[in-house]
Amino acid sequence: MPPIDELIGQLDTIRQQAEQELTAADSAEKLEAFRIRYFGRASGVLTGLMKNLSALSPEDRAVFGKAANSTKQKLQDLLDQKAGTMGKGTAAPHTDAWQDITLPGRGIARGHIHPITRVLGEVVSIFSTMGFSIAEGPEIELDYYNFEALNMPGDHPARDMQDTFYLPGGFLLRTQTSPVQIRTMEKTPPPVSIIAPGRVFRRDWDLTHTPMFHQVEGLLVDRGISMTHLKGVLEAFLRAFFGMDTKIRFRPSYFPFTEPSTEVDIGCIFCKGKGCRVCKTSGWLEILGAGMVHPEVLKRVKYDTEVCTGFAFGIGIERLAMLKYNIGDLRMFFENDLRFLRQ
Ligand SMILES: [Zn+2]
Repeated sequence: MPPIDELIGQLDTIRQQAEQELTAADSAEKLEAFRIRYFGRASGVLTGLMKNLSALSPEDRAVFGKAANSTKQKLQDLLDQKAGTMGKGTAAPHTDAWQDITLPGRGIARGHIHPITRVLGEVVSIFSTMGFSIAEGPEIELDYYNFEALNMPGDHPARDMQDTFYLPGGFLLRTQTSPVQIRTMEKTPPPVSIIAPGRVFRRDWDLTHTPMFHQVEGLLVDRGISMTHLKGVLEAFLRAFFGMDTKIRFRPSYFPFTEPSTEVDIGCIFCKGKGCRVCKTSGWLEILGAGMVHPEVLKRVKYDTEVCTGFAFGIGIERLAMLKYNIGDLRMFFENDLRFLRQ
């Protein structure tokens, strides 16, 4: 028999025997022993067989080399499969065989700032440059601070505007950051200029509502503060956030704790005012609510309403982030899908 046929025959016998051994192997140790017996660099059966290559003619060498490699690959695949089903990492011969040192290394995964945190930081930084300082308050509030002191006594219809989470013992999860206004003014005589970023809670869950979301509250009280100051501050903020050419309009509105009250729109940043799906063809996007602090609210904290006036505003951070990053579903911010967060 020519040496090439003999070698191919031997290869086939080795393959059959190896397959049987692999099927029978029932432990990681046996798999490792198998790996060494067949693939070992010094004395592996397959390695040994390859040493015959040099005795073959160039034509035969190509034929045998191909057959040997294919057998080796087949056994390797079976071994990997078996190791995988045993729940152990592959007992890979790659470690002592050939390694591709030109492969790029595995990058270290870098973290990203959550879009909400990023927008919150930007808003805070814009108002800081205008001289507002940051105030904070508790997320678990008393009815007094969340409603009553903000001119919403027990039977006030405006309480129904906000679906509240009530807690035992007369507590509730704040539905707005406005209680921070009251807490700050109780402690500080005028002038006061604060922004209060934080989480608020309402019983809502759909495309544009989540039970927890973020607001930034703003409050400025001093002598002779008017609507003009409010407009100036909000215009400066919106232009800094959305761009200098942003169109802005103020519409009359109603909130119990401001009088007069206004809602502020910007010209749709997607269609530039022509009308699209996001702005519901109106060309405008509702951005925030604001107004002059209601005298009743100032009286509660013993401010002299003959001397002081002030304005307040509330901005939804998720709303800003949705517009800035063109995100359609508010819930995506809180589902922590990494594919979303990595963008
Ligand atoms: Zn539009």
